[in-house]
Amino acid sequence: MEKLNNSIDRSWIDKWDQPFIISGPCSAESEKQILETANRLNSSSVQVFRAGIWKPRTKPNNFEGVGKKGLEWLHKVKKNTGLMVATEIANAEHVRLAISFGIDVLWIGARSTASPFTIQEIADALEGENNKIVLVKNPIHPDIELWIGALERLLGKGIQKLGVIHRGFYTYKNSKYRNQPNWNLLLNFRSLLPRIPIICDPSHICGNKEGIFDIAKAAYHFQYEGLMIESHCDPSHALSDAQQQITPENLLKMLKKLTSIEKFDQKSKRYLDSFRILIDELDENIITLLAERMNISKKLGSLKKSSDIAVIQPSRWEKIMKKSLFFGKSLGLTEEFLEGIFELLHQESIKIQNQIR
Ligand code: PEP
Ligand code: MN
Repeated sequence: MEKLNNSIDRSWIDKWDQPFIISGPCSAESEKQILETANRLNSSSVQVFRAGIWKPRTKPNNFEGVGKKGLEWLHKVKKNTGLMVATEIANAEHVRLAISFGIDVLWIGARSTASPFTIQEIADALEGENNKIVLVKNPIHPDIELWIGALERLLGKGIQKLGVIHRGFYTYKNSKYRNQPNWNLLLNFRSLLPRIPIICDPSHICGNKEGIFDIAKAAYHFQYEGLMIESHCDPSHALSDAQQQITPENLLKMLKKLTSIEKFDQKSKRYLDSFRILIDELDENIITLLAERMNISKKLGSLKKSSDIAVIQPSRWEKIMKKSLFFGKSLGLTEEFLEGIFELLHQESIKIQNQIR
C-alpha cells in the first residue's frame, strides 16, 4: 500500500487554493446551455468545468447524453474560458474520443468503479496518457478494496495524476440522501492512502439542492481537497438530475460562504466538528434501525393477534437479552448500558403490540 500511496502524483491539485472546484451541468444538452453555464461559472474560484456526455441511466429510454458532439462544446469552453474541462468515461471508445478533444480531467462513474472489467478496459485505453487527471468515484456499494483496486489498475498503466470522489453509497434503507455519505469509510480510506486527493460530490449524495451546503461543509471539516457540484444555467429544465442542480450564481455564493468559515475556524474546532458529523451520521442510522425494528413489531403484533398468541413471551425475551448482552459486551459495551437499552426496546415493542389488540 505504501508503494501505491507514494506513486500518486498530487501536483495537479496542490498548485491550486483549496477547495479545488469542479462544476457544470450533470449533462451537456446543447451548445448554448454549455457555453452559457460555463460563462456564468467562469471565476477564480472554479478550476474545472464538468459535463456528462454519455450518461449512465438506471433505466433505458431516458436521456442518455448527446455523445461526441458534446466534446466539441467542451473544447470550446476550454478555448473561451481557460477552464480545464472534465467528462465521464466508461469504456475505451469514450477514452479515445475524450483524448482526441483535449479533455483534461476524466472521471470514472460509480457504476463503472464497481466493475473490474470496465476499469481494466479504461486503464488499458489510457496507457501513455500520463498528463490526464483521472478521478475515480466510489463504487456504488461501500467496498474500499474494490475502489483501491481501480486505482491500482490505473497506476499499473502509468496514470499517476489521480484523485477519488466521494459521491455516497446506494442504500436500501429509508434515507434523506440519494446516496448515503460514509464519512467514516472515507477516514479509513485516507489512513490507507493519505496522499490521494479526495473530492466530495454533494450533488449526488443529496439528490436535492437543499442539502448541498451542509455536505460541502462536512467535506471541509474532514479536509477534503475539493468539491464537485452540479450547476446548470436553467436547473428546472435540465434533462437529467434537475432536482439537484443549482445556478452558477448560487454555486459562487455558496463557495463564498464556505471560504468565510475557513477564515474563522481554528484547527481544533474543525476536528471537533468532524467528530460531531460522525456522531450525527451514526445517530441517524440508529433511528432508522429503531423505526425498522418497531415496524416489524407492528407486523408481529398483528400476527400474534390473528393466531391468538400472548404478546409477552418470556422465554423468547430471555434469549434476546442473553444474546444481545453477549454480543454487546464483546464490543466493549457495559452490561448496565445494554440492559437499559434493551429494556426500553422491549417496553416499546410490547406497547405497540398491545395497541394493535
Ligand atoms: C455524474 O456525475 O453525473 C454521475 C452520473 O455520477 P455517479 O457516477 O456518481 O452517479
Ligand atoms: Mn448527475
